[in-house]
Amino acid sequence: MDLTIALAGNPNSGKTTMFNALTGARQHVGNYPGVTVEKKQGQYQRNGLNIQIVDLPGTYSLTAYSMEEVVARNFLVDEKPAVVVDIVDASNLERNLYLCLQFMEMGLPVVMALNMIDAAQKRDIIVDVDKLSQLLGIPVIPTIARSGHGKAELMQTVATIAEQEHHTKPLSISYGRDVDPVLDAMAEEIGQHNFLTDRYSQRWIALKYLENDEQIRTLGRSHNKTVADNLEAMVADLAVHLKQTLDTYPEAEIADHRYGHITAIMRQGVISIKQDHDRLFMSDRIDRVLINRFAGPLIMVLVIMGLYHFTFTYSKLPVGWLEAFFGWLGGLVNQSLPEGLLKSLIIAGVIDGVGGVLGFVPLIMFMFFGIAFLEDSGYLARVAFMLDRVFRFFGLHGNSVMPFIVSGGIAGGCAVPGIMAARTLKSPRERLATLLTAPFMNCGAKLPIFALLVAAFFADNEAIVMLIITAIAWIGALAVARFLRSTVIQGDSTPFVMELPPYRLPTLKGMVIHTWERTWQYIKKAGTVILGISILLWALMTFPSLPESQVKHFAELRASHQATADTNIIMERAQPHEIEAPSNAAPLLQASLAQIDSREAEAALRYSLAGRIGTFLEGFSTWAGFDWRTNIALIGGFAAKEVVVSTLGTAYSLGGVDAEDAGSLSNTLAASPVWSPLVAFSLIIFTIFYAPCFVSVICIARESGSWKWGAFSMVFNTVLAFGLAVLVYQAGSLLGF
Ligand code: GDP
Ligand code: MG
Repeated sequence: MDLTIALAGNPNSGKTTMFNALTGARQHVGNYPGVTVEKKQGQYQRNGLNIQIVDLPGTYSLTAYSMEEVVARNFLVDEKPAVVVDIVDASNLERNLYLCLQFMEMGLPVVMALNMIDAAQKRDIIVDVDKLSQLLGIPVIPTIARSGHGKAELMQTVATIAEQEHHTKPLSISYGRDVDPVLDAMAEEIGQHNFLTDRYSQRWIALKYLENDEQIRTLGRSHNKTVADNLEAMVADLAVHLKQTLDTYPEAEIADHRYGHITAIMRQGVISIKQDHDRLFMSDRIDRVLINRFAGPLIMVLVIMGLYHFTFTYSKLPVGWLEAFFGWLGGLVNQSLPEGLLKSLIIAGVIDGVGGVLGFVPLIMFMFFGIAFLEDSGYLARVAFMLDRVFRFFGLHGNSVMPFIVSGGIAGGCAVPGIMAARTLKSPRERLATLLTAPFMNCGAKLPIFALLVAAFFADNEAIVMLIITAIAWIGALAVARFLRSTVIQGDSTPFVMELPPYRLPTLKGMVIHTWERTWQYIKKAGTVILGISILLWALMTFPSLPESQVKHFAELRASHQATADTNIIMERAQPHEIEAPSNAAPLLQASLAQIDSREAEAALRYSLAGRIGTFLEGFSTWAGFDWRTNIALIGGFAAKEVVVSTLGTAYSLGGVDAEDAGSLSNTLAASPVWSPLVAFSLIIFTIFYAPCFVSVICIARESGSWKWGAFSMVFNTVLAFGLAVLVYQAGSLLGF
């Protein structure tokens, strides 16, 4: 077999020594600057192998900062060696991996020679070769270049890898929530215009642009000025954004995440050092506590609990203000508009609907602020790291953790970006299982439903109940994942690496911007999509309107009450001395008139299309404790989960509960005879598990490549949710709650 390979690695890792050992050629072994910048070639001939070997200059990175880096990079790109042998100094593994990852990101087939294991051993550093190989996904051969130990095995492995001839997929590291979307957008732009793609992969070019690589930029400008300008503008935008939010710049952010990837590999017990731990960095010290096998999970639960406590405690006041504001607004409209459809539309459809959703903006904001702190500080990555062990047991992947968290795993995400985030998963089965279970998380739209019910029925234990809700979502998602992975999507799981970026003290400005970005998305959605659906549902709840005969019936009822009351008042006036206390006839009349109003409103809602559907479904839904009004709200939730709250608001405001008396919706529910903590809990369970919203279903279908899975998630989730809700309600009723 005839092939060309390259020896690459950090300076002083033993490349030249290995080159000599392999080729037998006499070479000067030394590290004077410039010595290895020339390309040296030699041949390895043994065991029927005939391998051309090139000794590349030593570099720490593949940016184009130095002559050595440019020489090494150009050779790899232009000569396309069959395999890159990365010579790594075993006693300095962490630092050496930085270059290794960059070869892998270029999509080059890499074999690692873990060199100087003798020197490492002397320093009491033991490397777990199998684990390292498994986590990196490349072969790792321990060698001692000075004695030639391991060189035959190294060449044998090289030959095997070269023979496989399959196209190596470039390693794709996540560079964080700020960089990743820009990187994807740039890669797409690059792909669309075939911009330099004959030489480099799309993502790699994008990465080099973000790293400010002068060589690629110059090349790009002469290749296609328009695309180059576009890309540079995207980088500039991101640079401004990163400066504002994290007080950093793209190159630094990328390097941080690459090191995070390496740290995560190292923290999985790849090396054991018997020496003292004096030289540990700050992040390592913190990690020894925060991701400790025992203390870690406990701290994690406390942190999340603290987050909920913070959110619920501090958002109470502003939520109250907003509720008061929308109440006032409703009252104002009530007084200034004439009775009729328009008034009903504005009050019931718009103010009670959209206002119900917007009322939660402060809560969402506090939650996002807390999450921004956890994310920007680097703690969220640790959460993912710890959960990873658990995930593998359930047939998912370490990389499934992020989609879950993005979907609202801690609270207040969205399944749509969560489903997109599952793209980092390479195995199609784990990816599918992730797509299908991520929507169980408590997204920002379910949060108001929980907040409403918790405030109405579990006001004393808000943080605890919220934690329980989160736990149920996770346990449910994992159980379903396990179920799916052992039935409809069977197959092995793949090894992976989670990244652990260094801890950072978040800046207030950065957290504020991150919080605002996400909150604004929520508000925008409430103002557009939710408004539209809310009006549509209002129409469904209003038409067809009550027939004439019924309206007349209620009018007569009212008139007769009025008449009796009038007689009473007349009699009262005739004999004022007989009554000591002030008259209560007028308020009594008011009360009974209001009762008639509400009976009429209820009859009207029942008569409407939505009311008929809700009433029809009541036949089943009572098993889970849901009345027909709740059914209407849940049907609305298929469109978007926010609509559940807005529809409950509309249904209770149309459906005969006097808005001014009842105050907020949570008070209305708490006072309603058909509601109880058990019903609320059953509804919470149903909300967690039932069909993903419409947009999520579309995303699932698109990402899985088949409508079948979109439909599956709707049917399967709803059946599951209903089953669980019935179970909860029936068991709860039996136990006497
Ligand atoms: P290069 O800069 O990567 O080309 O590294 P060199 O081949 O010049 O080696 C740097 C130094 O490390 C030299 O003094 C070598 O003798 C020494 N060296 C290389 N490989 C080994 C090894 O496996 N074990 C030990 N103990 N020393 C080695
Ligand atoms: Mg050398």
